[in-house]
Amino acid sequence: MANIEIHNLSKTFYIAKNRRKPASEVMALQNVSLHIPSGSFFVLMGGSGSGKTTLLRILAGIESFDDGDFFWNGVDATKISQEEKSMAYVPQNYVLFPYATVYQNIAMGLKDRGLTTEEIIACIRRVAKQAGITAILTRKPRQLSGGEQQRVAIARALAREADVNLFDEPLSNVDPKNRGTFLRLFLEMKSRHNATFLYSTHRLEEALTLADQMCLLQQGKVIGVGTPQELYDKPATLQIFSFLRAGKSLTFSGVVKNRTLLVANTKIQLSLPDGSYTFGLSYEDAYFSEEGIPIRIQNVLWEEDGPHLSFASEDGTFRGTLLSPTPHEVGETMHVTFNAKNLFAFRPNGTRVD
Ligand code: ADP
Ligand code: MG
Repeated sequence: MANIEIHNLSKTFYIAKNRRKPASEVMALQNVSLHIPSGSFFVLMGGSGSGKTTLLRILAGIESFDDGDFFWNGVDATKISQEEKSMAYVPQNYVLFPYATVYQNIAMGLKDRGLTTEEIIACIRRVAKQAGITAILTRKPRQLSGGEQQRVAIARALAREADVNLFDEPLSNVDPKNRGTFLRLFLEMKSRHNATFLYSTHRLEEALTLADQMCLLQQGKVIGVGTPQELYDKPATLQIFSFLRAGKSLTFSGVVKNRTLLVANTKIQLSLPDGSYTFGLSYEDAYFSEEGIPIRIQNVLWEEDGPHLSFASEDGTFRGTLLSPTPHEVGETMHVTFNAKNLFAFRPNGTRVD
């Protein structure tokens, strides 16, 4: 059991260029508050530089913070020794001991915990089987692929049987075709252990697949916390919508009056109170058709699945990129229509209308 709570946690790094110039500041975390329930699989999702590693390092007790509170089972975590916290931390660039075999790499931590030789053998056998590395236990790290090394790092963490497991972007060095295997491995770990998992990633698929709860980090700030369904299907704000559907959605502004939306000089029936809105639409819900909002093709980008047409309405208020089932030329005029039922409407303050 381990309940983790942080309140208004902040961390600034100061980078001194030279003695004469003042140091520049990077606010890596700003007022981050989170409750990570015991036994949950909690995913920190954010782009590069959003503060994932800094947060995980603080939770692992190897980085200090400037402001805020950090409670471990209700007790001030800065007052508890590292040994008292049952925790395993796997940093992003995990380094195995190069002269030891995989087996020895895993065994090292176990000897320190006072396990007998029989217990160590049994434990390594069990975690090796779980992580799929039984066949490579006698190899040295340099004889392993990136993915295999990552499996060893996971096995080492599992062998600790810690209450809290921290994984910093564990799939970043795994090539795309093996990601599915690793996701299944983590899903299995999640169902088999009632430990807490904290896992960071910048990939939506990983977060949606694994998370019980996820936290969206942007430039050191939390912009949303919830289950994947809550955040993805019912984004509370335009910021969350844009964050999770970056590159896979259209957003446009429009005015609703008397249940009619006016966008790019086109009228669409919509039952919303009168007012100005920003609308969000997933690519799946918009398509080229005979009728709808008139647009002009601005450029055509061929990808594996076909031509992606970038378009804009004459007044420039409705623009985006959609996959087309048929090829078209730059400059052609067409129409885009969408399923108004699946439109997300956000008020001028960014909150979503239910
Ligand atoms: P992420 O893991 O999401 O990529 P990080 O937590 O590594 O993000 O970094 C957050 C911000 O803090 C970045 O702007 C990064 O450059 C800065 N940062 C991280 N560690 C240090 C450090 N030791 N010194 C100075 N700046 C740092
Ligand atoms: Mg990082």
